[in-house]
Amino acid sequence: MIDKSGIGSLNKIEYRGRFAPSPTGPLHFGSLIAAIASYLEAKTNQGKWFLRIDDADYLREQKYASDSIKKALELHGFEWDKDIQYQSNSNVLYKRMRNHLIDNKKAFRCNCSRKILKNNQTGLNGIIYTGTCRKKHITNDYSIRVFVDQLKIKFNDEIQGSQSSQLDKDIGDFVIWRRDNIISYHLATIIDDNELGVTNIVRGNDLINSTFCQLYLQNLLNYKNPTYSHIPVVVDKNKQKLSKQFGAKEISNKLNTQNLVDGLLALKQTPPDDLASDSLENIWSWAIENWNSKTLEMTRSVKTPNL
Ligand code: GLU
Repeated sequence: MIDKSGIGSLNKIEYRGRFAPSPTGPLHFGSLIAAIASYLEAKTNQGKWFLRIDDADYLREQKYASDSIKKALELHGFEWDKDIQYQSNSNVLYKRMRNHLIDNKKAFRCNCSRKILKNNQTGLNGIIYTGTCRKKHITNDYSIRVFVDQLKIKFNDEIQGSQSSQLDKDIGDFVIWRRDNIISYHLATIIDDNELGVTNIVRGNDLINSTFCQLYLQNLLNYKNPTYSHIPVVVDKNKQKLSKQFGAKEISNKLNTQNLVDGLLALKQTPPDDLASDSLENIWSWAIENWNSKTLEMTRSVKTPNL
């Protein structure tokens, strides 16, 4: 078929970004800046921005959290395309992809106990698995790991620069399906990103090493590799990453305009002094017009504002 819309439109791929919080607690400042950065990247590229609730791990889910995150995003003026996506709706697809990997001899069952695993060396993402169960025939109480070939994975992070890992030495065969019968974060993420046609992933730098596993899985499943930008993580005064696990404070919706301006400052933007007293609409207009992610280049962490 001939494309009549003109040269240039032939290869144009629409930008599709997303924000994918886990509902393990309310929105805190660290997740807010991931939301702001991914939103601004999508908007300045005339793209789409999706909201996906990563609730595949129902054991860690706090029941109130999805609604509280959604409300906080709404009250901060975020607008997402499509309906909210929930990973818990993807279970059938997850099982299909897991079985596909097993049937194609890309994955195997492992029943190593924690005690055995503890003796392994640690690498980029926890223990380095050295293939203990690769050739065993295990029938119960197992996790599923992917066979990791001897290879180097490289990618160019838009913010952190060029990254590489010798996957077999740094990570080893990693888990794609947990012993408690829950899909792993890596596999769930790439399946859902692919379903949504996500082209650009903007997220916290704490996940940069996960990208090696995710690129590897995308290649095994013949998915397209998105472009990655890992923004700095927010740390507290003890240099500890803000996380729900360590009880990071919920952002207050009453301070929505101030939170956005603090977020822009943490993302090394230069909002005018009085921007926080302006309307949400004007704050977003300013942010979209002036967004410059180059200021973040090679920055791994930033401090919580007002410390
Ligand atoms: N759901 C993950 C989290 O909240 C983020 C997933 C991702 O951006 O890949 O940490």
